[in-house]
Amino acid sequence: LPSSNGKTNLSLEIPTIKFTKLFINGEFVDSLSGKEFETIDPRSGEVIAKIAEGTKEDIDVAVKAARVAFDDGPWPRMPGFVRAKIMLKWADLIDQNIEEIAALDTIDAGKLYTFCKAVDIPGVANIIRYYAGAADKIHGKVLKPARELHAYTLMEPIGVVGHIIPWNFPSTMFAAKVAPALAAGCTMVLKPAEQTPLSALFYAHLAKEAGIPDGVLNVVPGFGATAGAAISSHMDIDKVSFTGSTEVGREIMVSAARSNLKPVSLELGGKSPLLIFDDADVNKAAELALLGILFNKGEICVAGSRVFVQEGIYDEFEKKLVEKAKAWVVGDPFDPKVQQGPQVDKKQFEKILSYIEHGKNDGATLLTGGKKIGDKGYYIEPTIFSNVKEDMRIAQDEIFGPVMALMKFKTIEEAIKSANNTKYGLAAGIVTKNLDIANTVSRSIRAGIIWINCYFAFGNDIPYGGYKMSGFGRDFGLESLHKYLQVKSVVTPIYNSPW
Ligand code: ADP
Repeated sequence: LPSSNGKTNLSLEIPTIKFTKLFINGEFVDSLSGKEFETIDPRSGEVIAKIAEGTKEDIDVAVKAARVAFDDGPWPRMPGFVRAKIMLKWADLIDQNIEEIAALDTIDAGKLYTFCKAVDIPGVANIIRYYAGAADKIHGKVLKPARELHAYTLMEPIGVVGHIIPWNFPSTMFAAKVAPALAAGCTMVLKPAEQTPLSALFYAHLAKEAGIPDGVLNVVPGFGATAGAAISSHMDIDKVSFTGSTEVGREIMVSAARSNLKPVSLELGGKSPLLIFDDADVNKAAELALLGILFNKGEICVAGSRVFVQEGIYDEFEKKLVEKAKAWVVGDPFDPKVQQGPQVDKKQFEKILSYIEHGKNDGATLLTGGKKIGDKGYYIEPTIFSNVKEDMRIAQDEIFGPVMALMKFKTIEEAIKSANNTKYGLAAGIVTKNLDIANTVSRSIRAGIIWINCYFAFGNDIPYGGYKMSGFGRDFGLESLHKYLQVKSVVTPIYNSPW
């Protein structure tokens, strides 16, 4: 396979794919229709495995299993610490299988193997541990009504949850959705993205081994329009938690409303700004900006895809940025020297290349990149456009690839206005040593997370989610646990009240 230095040609063994069926009620089963779909290795475009394809009927069976597990099963009724104990065992089992799971995400999504091994997969175990720690600390409060009433709240699990997740972080997304819902005492059906079903099925197998009761966690791979839509429109699912595109988020909200008015939480697209001020260390800022757009090949909803640089350092910044982009290594994601693997699939690959054409046709200047690499697999050069106007498609649309729109600004006010000139509001970055600028800008940008002098700084206890059309509801932190709980008020008279 090609890399930008033209040398890499690794022949790392692809792990044997052990789990290819639907995981329903604690068993791996074929789909009712007998249908299968192919999951593709984006390094080559070749088929990795055939996966059982869940459709509406399979979702129905999975929801029934989750319903029984919720209504009659032990999971929601266990003391929190018992749920926690099982979750902690699951986390340990994941730790024992890091390399194999990392390899699954690498072949399925083109993600860097070394990074998955060091960060994504151990991160899954740690997300589970974080929420396991919360499972026995869920409680309501005693209220103090004005009248002679004794009143208190109970925090109850919301019920059967449907999770629909994307392909860019198959493992992290799985854990971010499943772990808080499990801690809350919910049961669930998860649909992984059709591009990346492999790791979710592996986690399901380990969940069974850890002792998560049958029916509590069901994993049904399948397509969005069929299996996904069956979740969002299901009459017996009590909540849907979704991460994906803004267009699909809108459809999910509509079908949730049309069916049983189930609450939804949506973590959607972004076009996040990174603002670099004159006092920044230019070299470090260029590194940060590059990472901001190229990490995970730009397939991350918080990618810093619009970079605004103050005029005093603009020229020097641009020069350094281009130098660094040219030295960035694209190639086989199993190679530890490689910094960027292939885009997830042909559709994304073509979409990104078409945006690059838009950028050129709309009059932006292509500073570097702009082309695919090699003839096999879905590799794209790190691409930077300058002279970008704010109304161009490359400055407004989420591209979800290694394509940066670079712009210049003069004043803080102008920078804030430009940063907010988007329908999205997921994240923003600020690079400055000036506390006044940092404070003013962080409070003025309408986005769910602001990174000052860093980017992609995540933590299990740091809530993460959108403003505006980037969605609502938060993943991570105790905020996420509360998405899977509902409040019940219990009221009774005291003394000889008139009741
Ligand atoms: P992307 O465009 O980045 O692939 P999507 O929003 O299309 O992201 O996909 C995210 C998840 O949503 C995937 O699991 C996909 O199968 C699912 N999905 C796509 N369309 C629908 C739909 N109409 N209803 C429910 N889920 C869907």
